[in-house]
Amino acid sequence: MVSLPLVTTDSSESTTPRKIHLLNWSLDQLKAWLKENGHQAFRAKQIRRWLFSGRATSFDEMTDLSAKLRAQLDEHFTIFNAAEVTASVSKDGTEKLLVRLADGGEVECVLLRDGGRRSICVSSQVGCAMGCVFCASGLDGVDRNLTGGEILEQMLRLQQRLPESERLSHIVMMGMGEPLANLPGVLAALDVARSEEGLGISPRRITISTVGLPPAIDKLAASGIPYNLAVSLHAPNDELRSELVPVNRKVGIEPVLQAADRYFQSSGRRLTFEYVLLGGINDGDEHARQLTQILRGRSVMMNVIPYNPVAGLPYRTPSKESIARFRSILESAGVNVNFRQRKGDEINAACGQLRRNRGGKTKDASAT
Ligand code: SF4
Repeated sequence: MVSLPLVTTDSSESTTPRKIHLLNWSLDQLKAWLKENGHQAFRAKQIRRWLFSGRATSFDEMTDLSAKLRAQLDEHFTIFNAAEVTASVSKDGTEKLLVRLADGGEVECVLLRDGGRRSICVSSQVGCAMGCVFCASGLDGVDRNLTGGEILEQMLRLQQRLPESERLSHIVMMGMGEPLANLPGVLAALDVARSEEGLGISPRRITISTVGLPPAIDKLAASGIPYNLAVSLHAPNDELRSELVPVNRKVGIEPVLQAADRYFQSSGRRLTFEYVLLGGINDGDEHARQLTQILRGRSVMMNVIPYNPVAGLPYRTPSKESIARFRSILESAGVNVNFRQRKGDEINAACGQLRRNRGGKTKDASAT
């Protein structure tokens, strides 16, 4: 397992100027800097390739750059700007990192192994403002958006966990935070992740998860990049959804579904809906029937995730019977449905749990 350097450049008491987080810079910014410093612009792509394919964690490793350029890069930039606080591995191979950012904020990211797939789940904000009642990430609200570089750094840190023969195959923006509340940071990071000199991952293998913010869904559609969109519904009617996903009070299910339809029309990507099944709350036959009604006529994949209870919150796992009935009602109505267990449960792989559990805190909870 590679251990990455701790950052020493962000002390507020330091008199030396803070180095620039290179992962926050676009290719054009780097090209301009290279030219100003007497180097050829094509070096920018070379440097990117070292970072993303070469998995370089220091400029010294970039052996086809001149010693002078490596020294200049080292003087001005950092590659990793955060530090790993903890790394946990579960029996099924899921690995979860808690990362401390330069300003002390903490976020989580996860590497999932599933057959040949190497998927990562990445955070977009410190905390979350959406307040889903069963989620640890939103318990303290949101502190701030992550920069594109901070999102990319999570991806690179997770890539470091893989042997050289393996590559990251899928990205899911479903960690801590609401990705569509930080669209500039998320799109900047994903632009690099899908680029040839970045991680080279097709947008078709990148999923952006959202509770459903219609104006931001429209902006995402306007970007013209066919990312997969996964909308977390968690309830089939406004009354229940507003209880479970408080932001629904301002938005409402119908506008979310209409925005999802517009996204489907412009991107051509099949829609995915997520539904955390909470025992005795949203797992009744009537909920399943209402769900089939609101999804009628839509080409969707419905991911249903039976809840796993954790200390501190009053939610429980649905019974086997209610899971079976829920499934049967959806399938009988022709809904494509996929029931799945979350991986890595014993390492608190749901977003926000690790951060809250550190130091023996018990206010953990489950998230999507
Ligand atoms: S489930 Fe997702 S959107 Fe809801 S509070 Fe947690 S992180 Fe935010």
